[in-house]
Amino acid sequence: MGRKSKDKRDIYYRKAKEEGWRARSAFKLLQIDEDFDIFKGVKRAVDLCAAPGSWSQVLSRRLFLAHNKRDGGGVGDGCKVRGAGSEAKGPVGDEEKEPVIVAVDLQPMAPVEGVVQIQGDITSTETATEVIRHFEGEKADLVVSDGAPDVTGLHDLDEFVQSQLILAALTIVTHVLKEGGTFIAKVFRGKNVQLLYSQLKMFFPLVTVSKPRSSRNASIEAFVVCQKYSPPAGFEPEMLRRVLEGEITSKDLDSWSDATKPKVIVPFVACGDLQGWDPDAVVLGGQSEASLAPVQPPIAPPYKRALELIKRGRD
Ligand code: SAM
Repeated sequence: MGRKSKDKRDIYYRKAKEEGWRARSAFKLLQIDEDFDIFKGVKRAVDLCAAPGSWSQVLSRRLFLAHNKRDGGGVGDGCKVRGAGSEAKGPVGDEEKEPVIVAVDLQPMAPVEGVVQIQGDITSTETATEVIRHFEGEKADLVVSDGAPDVTGLHDLDEFVQSQLILAALTIVTHVLKEGGTFIAKVFRGKNVQLLYSQLKMFFPLVTVSKPRSSRNASIEAFVVCQKYSPPAGFEPEMLRRVLEGEITSKDLDSWSDATKPKVIVPFVACGDLQGWDPDAVVLGGQSEASLAPVQPPIAPPYKRALELIKRGRD
């Protein structure tokens, strides 16, 4: 029997399959919710860097579940399809409107019920514009971003690319998030993360770093939970786009970061049941444990072409 990766032996990997989540990441968002109640009152949400889609599944189930309960309709798994059975009966109030969930990723993603999908790079203006277009007039209550670049193992480089992703996500946030809204993003807790916390604190009075139980202790990943969005007076969302596109130089950025000194203190919260499953322990997946099929096999994996070439070589 071949060696199994740590990922495939951990309890969350197996539980995800049993519960129908496309990735074990679903538990991270659910555990963040246990501590921060992030879905309360949320009708419109954006899921950045969403593939393969487990966070979109969580959003779909939670938002439609709440909506269907309010409707007095069946609650089921909460995945009532957007538009289905909702013929217009005159103008509807905000409470009655169906949830809007927009998901974005570089990779194609199999459909998730009730979720509008955009394939694109969140650091590009075109993708950001496309996301913003879906929220014209009505802003989002929640933006989540689980974005991660392909890790090189060079910590400084990985942390830099990750922070660029967060800056891109924050650019979209400044256009689509309503005042008072919540932004959650994956961060790498490297040596420069303090600057990022300071920048986030400029937009959110409440910034907490949270480490869900399902996130491995060995991993430097954590999630910033930024609450009560409130941009500085006179702030124009265009500013952040100009940083990303290089119009604002590193000199400008230096003075920007100077302005944020002294350092801010960001609270840290370990969330999820701390007595619960340990993601670093190999508890299941022994020799006798039957493996489960993936919930959603990849629809366009990066290794697809390699498999085709191998097959062609054999024929
Ligand atoms: N939250 C997802 C889930 O629960 O299924 C998992 C997200 S996965 C850890 C990270 C994703 O970030 C990958 O699918 C990758 O394609 C995406 N990503 C990385 N850089 C991106 C970018 N610049 N624009 C859009 N997506 C990006």
